[in-house]
Amino acid sequence: MPTNLLIATRNAGKLRELNTLLGDVPFDLVSLSDVGIDDEVEETGETFEENAALKAETYARLSGLPTLADDSGLEVDALGGEPGVRSARYAGEDASDADRIAFLLRKLENVPKERWSARFRCVIALAWPGEPTEFHPGACEGMIVPEGRGSNGFGYDPIFLVPQMNKTLAELDSDEKNRISHRSVAARSAASALAGRA
Ligand code: IMP
Repeated sequence: MPTNLLIATRNAGKLRELNTLLGDVPFDLVSLSDVGIDDEVEETGETFEENAALKAETYARLSGLPTLADDSGLEVDALGGEPGVRSARYAGEDASDADRIAFLLRKLENVPKERWSARFRCVIALAWPGEPTEFHPGACEGMIVPEGRGSNGFGYDPIFLVPQMNKTLAELDSDEKNRISHRSVAARSAASALAGRA
């Protein structure tokens, strides 16, 4: 009988992507709401690894289940890697995706556009009760564009251009995004580790 694997995110966009990316693993995927966990984990880490581990280990302890959590964000080179681990709260706690995009573009106003290189990073942490946490990283390189394009995806997708496709992540359909995204690279690595646990 397959074991449950808790996918510990409250971000609906990420949950949708992770469920698709991990569709073939030999586990039943359950969400925080499926297991009735309302607790929030404060992301106090300085790195994606620290935050992913904090979430995976806390929710594994609360649920008693093997738990997968990711931490991800956008690094813009001309901003010294900002917003990085602060991507979700870059423009304040109650800001919308549109507010965060506007805030980021304002910070880049005086930087020449050819220097708007950036990458999305994702680290997936897998916490097994009683074992050391495993990490699976992924990255996706691109350029920030000054005007949002496309309506798929979530977060900073409309202003993140994938140069080899000449499209933003929000102009790709979910299959295309799932072939190249930082989260898909990390999830494929996590999926092969999970296959070995079946
Ligand atoms: P956290 O991993 O929950 O701390 O938040 C990551 C934040 O980074 C999200 O809320 C988005 O703002 C941004 N982000 C992460 N992955 C993506 C992505 O695939 N597309 C667009 N924005 C993303």
